[in-house]
Amino acid sequence: MRYSQLLLPTTKETPAEAEVISHQLLLRAGCIRKLTSGLYTYLPLGLMALQKVAAIVREEMNRSGAQELLMPMVQPADLWQESGRWQKYGTELLRFKDRHERDFCLGPTHEEVITDIARRELQSYRQLPVNLYQIQTKFRDEIRPRFGLMRGREFVMKDAYSFDADDEAAGASYEIMKAAYHRIFKRCGLSFRAVEADTGSIGGSFSHEFMVLADTGEDTLVICNQCDYAANVEKAAVVLPEPAAETVEPAPLTRVETPGMKKVDRVADFLGVTAADVIKTMVFLADGEPVAALVRGDRQVQDVKLKNLLGAAEVEAVDDEAVWKLTKLPVGYMGPVDIPIRLVADQEVMRMTNAVAGANEKGMHLTGVHPGRDFSPELVGDLRQITPEDECPACGGELSLTEGIEVGHIFKLGTNYSEAMKATYQDTDGVDKPFVMGCYGIGVSRVVAAAIEQNHDDNGIIFPLPLAPFQVIVLNLGLKSASISDAAQQLYKNVQELGLEVLFDDRDERPGSKFKDADLLGIPYRATVGKVYEKDGMVELRIRATGETTLLPYIDAANQIVAMVREEQRRMNAVD
Ligand code: ATP
Ligand code: MG
Repeated sequence: MRYSQLLLPTTKETPAEAEVISHQLLLRAGCIRKLTSGLYTYLPLGLMALQKVAAIVREEMNRSGAQELLMPMVQPADLWQESGRWQKYGTELLRFKDRHERDFCLGPTHEEVITDIARRELQSYRQLPVNLYQIQTKFRDEIRPRFGLMRGREFVMKDAYSFDADDEAAGASYEIMKAAYHRIFKRCGLSFRAVEADTGSIGGSFSHEFMVLADTGEDTLVICNQCDYAANVEKAAVVLPEPAAETVEPAPLTRVETPGMKKVDRVADFLGVTAADVIKTMVFLADGEPVAALVRGDRQVQDVKLKNLLGAAEVEAVDDEAVWKLTKLPVGYMGPVDIPIRLVADQEVMRMTNAVAGANEKGMHLTGVHPGRDFSPELVGDLRQITPEDECPACGGELSLTEGIEVGHIFKLGTNYSEAMKATYQDTDGVDKPFVMGCYGIGVSRVVAAAIEQNHDDNGIIFPLPLAPFQVIVLNLGLKSASISDAAQQLYKNVQELGLEVLFDDRDERPGSKFKDADLLGIPYRATVGKVYEKDGMVELRIRATGETTLLPYIDAANQIVAMVREEQRRMNAVD
């Protein structure tokens, strides 16, 4: 491809709206353009990278025995009513009516449609197992679309669904997918980790997320330093140590004036206790209804755990102003005693004695608060975020926290959908049984962003070779010299004919800006034909990732470049 003919609008300035590096670089490198919030056009270079990811995904899915199909993006409400998700899914589901006033939605995921296919087309155990997948645009009306391709409203997903006769076979299908995912992300050149995960609104019993390790990740992972336990903090269960044997004399409930002390630490200081002695009361909206959640003053509420405990579809934190509007409770002085809204508590709170809590009156707190005696939450459970001071839930070992970007998610669904939608097959004994299902997603477009989060420097993108839109860029630095120009063009042609994807920078630009653009685009191998060619018959080859530069004799340059690329490809594709 000739650069002069490619729609590749690079920019020097960092776009103000882009917070994370992948978003900045995808814009600057002319890969994507924003249409409106959460919606992006892939320009040619961006699309090439996307298709590279899709091709790896497709190859490994096919290798694992899955079959590709393509389902409609528009889905009728009836199917979602059958599964029960029309009510449950919440506002991420974009719903609309057609001209006949019938309800539809844009597919955020395809369990309903595929289960409908299965119940029509799969009748017998002889047809199982089956794993069907597609690579397709999804729509989710995200509350906060952001970070460019990382969290769009429209994005490209690979979604696969397995149908098995029983739990054991479904477990085997799950393991096959887990192995395929390991191969996929390895072949994409990413540093990643599979972690135990919450099952969310898709439902099901068991799941793993594949996380690309990067500081800008929106997910926090907890990893054991001793065993191989790794989980999303949304999932990681807090194990409380054995309670201390000594019993504290319960003090009477006492009102104390705490003027202006809205923060846990200030109240604790003022009353001569620690944050761990204070009960923190936080208000959330659970499916539109206010709920107060209690955690110890030095802990954080984990929203997903709260959502699961409540069995809610959506849980949202509420800001101070809204708390007042909704509940008429004074922010900073809220507490569980006689609170007029729904109340739930973290398990740890129920062990507190002589605690401090807000009195639900401005400038006032209570001391000597006793859970059970002074208040009784409607639900008690594991509500708080795990910390590095907690024990590993698997082995009791030491934990550490790190950030990650979720690029894939696999679920054991069991029979949730097949039972709800009466999707059955006839077993060996002639009895109709529900399919045991699994579902498996990969954020194909998010992988592109995640790869850049993990692979970049001050000068731009450093595409892992398997995802690079072009493997080689050839720079012609001798536009005024016919011999340099001819040699550059010939090198471009030769490398291309030997089977590589090559971008030929034939633009009438200064060398400096050609070098800058080549760095920005992140093409792994850069071959420069310039003065050194004229003088010594040499081509300069530079590796983007390491900055390593070598001079190759022109005569042999094409072969050597191809050999280097092929060798690296072989290394990256070596998965078992
Ligand atoms: P998240 O927690 O990031 O919202 P999710 O749990 O909702 O993700 P799944 O339903 O498991 O996501 O979807 C499968 C994959 O699709 C995810 O692992 C992720 O890589 C990708 N994905 C999900 N939402 C988005 C989005 N808004 N933009 C881009 N990719 C997405
Ligand atoms: Mg989501």
